Amino acid sequence: MMLELRNITVRFGEITALDGLDLTVADGEEVAILGPSGCGKSTLLRVVAGLQKPNEGTVIWDGADIGAVPPHLRNVGLMFQNDALFPHLRVGENVGFGLRMAGWDREPARTRIAEMLTLVGLEGFASRRVDRLSGGEAQRVALARTLAPQPGLVMLDEPLGSLDRLLRDRLVIDIGEILEKTGIPSLYVTHDHDEAAAIAERIALMREGRIVQEGTFDQLRSNPADDWVADFVRS
Ligand code: ADP
Ligand code: MG
Repeated sequence: MMLELRNITVRFGEITALDGLDLTVADGEEVAILGPSGCGKSTLLRVVAGLQKPNEGTVIWDGADIGAVPPHLRNVGLMFQNDALFPHLRVGENVGFGLRMAGWDREPARTRIAEMLTLVGLEGFASRRVDRLSGGEAQRVALARTLAPQPGLVMLDEPLGSLDRLLRDRLVIDIGEILEKTGIPSLYVTHDHDEAAAIAERIALMREGRIVQEGTFDQLRSNPADDWVADFVRS
């Protein structure tokens, strides 16, 4: 077992964004975090990344409590919707950004950048300008940038939210395959149940700061825990 969240609570004044949340992610596992807007998905990722300190609860990584570990030492990659690429850097420099921060030497970094671009289907794009990329290509570059430093866990927060339906349907399949190839465990956040079903076998369904049910999409549909779950996965 790799990542374990125990009884995580996060409050913002009167709002309880996470409410005693428990979640476990095993080695190499892809998990989709599915839930409506405002249910606490982004807050959950921020807690794992160390960007949000929980009021209560414990984040355990490979058996150790990492509550006091700062974000840059957590070895997690985080990718957002509209994840801005650095406009003044070429594609390859964007992908290599984290490598430079981590002190990689020039040659291994160059090799790694090329590998990552091939992985995301953008072989030969290294010297392209980022303002000439399509929306889908830009998200592929952002994914390559997130994966390049070999994080121990990758978290994607509605990465396709701003793209149109057709492109999303294709990219979600590609992203699933890319993540599987890397073997890096992942948390993929979405409010769209079709996207969740496409990306991961295991779906953790969130409502009001808690995981209310886990299972495959078919299990959630055929055996919903309550009326709310039944409505959410049907609509
Ligand atoms: P989701 O990503 O599922 O849409 P969020 O984690 O962004 O949900 O937000 C969960 C709840 O916490 C929402 O009610 C949101 O308004 C609130 N919230 C999130 N971040 C903050 C913050 N920094 N300050 C105040 N309230 C916040
Ligand atoms: Mg969010």
